[in-house]
Amino acid sequence: MRGALTAAMAALALGAAGLAHAQEAPVPGPGEELAPDPAALPLVIIDPGHGGKDTGAVGTLPDGTETGLPPRRDGRGRTRIYEKDVNLDLAVRLQGYLVGRGYPTVMTRTTDLAGGDLPFRGVSRDLRDRVRLANRAAQAARGRESIFISLHANAFRATSRGTETFHFYASGAPARRLARLVHEEVVFRLGLPDRGVKTAGFFVLKRTSMPAILLEGAFLSNPDEALLLASSDFRQQVVEGAGAGIERYVREEDPSAPTPRPARVEPLTIRYWVTAGVFARRSVAIKRVRRAKRLGFDAVVRPRLHPRLDRKVFHVVTGQFIFLANAKEMRAQLRQAGLPGKVGSAQAPDRTAAARR
Ligand SMILES: [Zn+2]
Repeated sequence: MRGALTAAMAALALGAAGLAHAQEAPVPGPGEELAPDPAALPLVIIDPGHGGKDTGAVGTLPDGTETGLPPRRDGRGRTRIYEKDVNLDLAVRLQGYLVGRGYPTVMTRTTDLAGGDLPFRGVSRDLRDRVRLANRAAQAARGRESIFISLHANAFRATSRGTETFHFYASGAPARRLARLVHEEVVFRLGLPDRGVKTAGFFVLKRTSMPAILLEGAFLSNPDEALLLASSDFRQQVVEGAGAGIERYVREEDPSAPTPRPARVEPLTIRYWVTAGVFARRSVAIKRVRRAKRLGFDAVVRPRLHPRLDRKVFHVVTGQFIFLANAKEMRAQLRQAGLPGKVGSAQAPDRTAAARR
């Protein structure tokens, strides 16, 4: 992860240069809009989806369409457009938009590689690297607020159309507000069908520690919208929308927080965990952890008192969840990978009761 962190710091430094520039800006005259205090601007973590061997969605363009992106052709010589290229172009444009306005920024990748500018070694690893990088960058921002925006192009049917924006199911008011404002501004500029702000369990939304959203500007699977995404003017409009949404998020009063009382953090209880085996011996559990990791899962050993056997056993835990549906999803993934997935309660059984027996 050293490389990833260096990339994050390099990008952070670039953002800081923009910050210094903003501080030198002249004091606005009467009637001019007062720029927000640069120190109060959030760190914007920009996540260009996919990259490297993961092309993301692939669209088809009329032969020879100029895209301003790396030229792509399929085996039969047809002109293609890769989502990973669109996303990176959007990200670079958004970074330019934000740095020019004094925002510090971090990119989860800056080249055609996986998250952290690392070689692509599987989707789950890539996503973990992106989240780790984002969370570290937020930590390094030392008290400055951070927000996360993942940039994608959509794919479903050839007839699917429009713009949609996601936040995590259980995200708090800031992520919901950010999603709404970015969505409004992008829909306003693109004029495509408004598919609405939606919730999802995407890994980068679920595991990031800051308000996080994912924007799907238009559909690459739709030939008309693929042609729009091939235009650099259109991509600039996506970015102007996203940037304007972020600006509103920073400048506008948060209507959900009418009084400046300290925010109450709603406790979200982790109720379920998903295991890939339970063992009497730690050494055997560790072997299973290694196997799970080779298959792309995050896994740890959790010792727990077995209520009936009245002795310690070793669970191999691959995930902890608030929602049962998400736990079941991981269980299915484990089973698909040939591991014995099981959903259990993340709450330890009552130790004192067991001890009293
Ligand atoms: Zn995507």
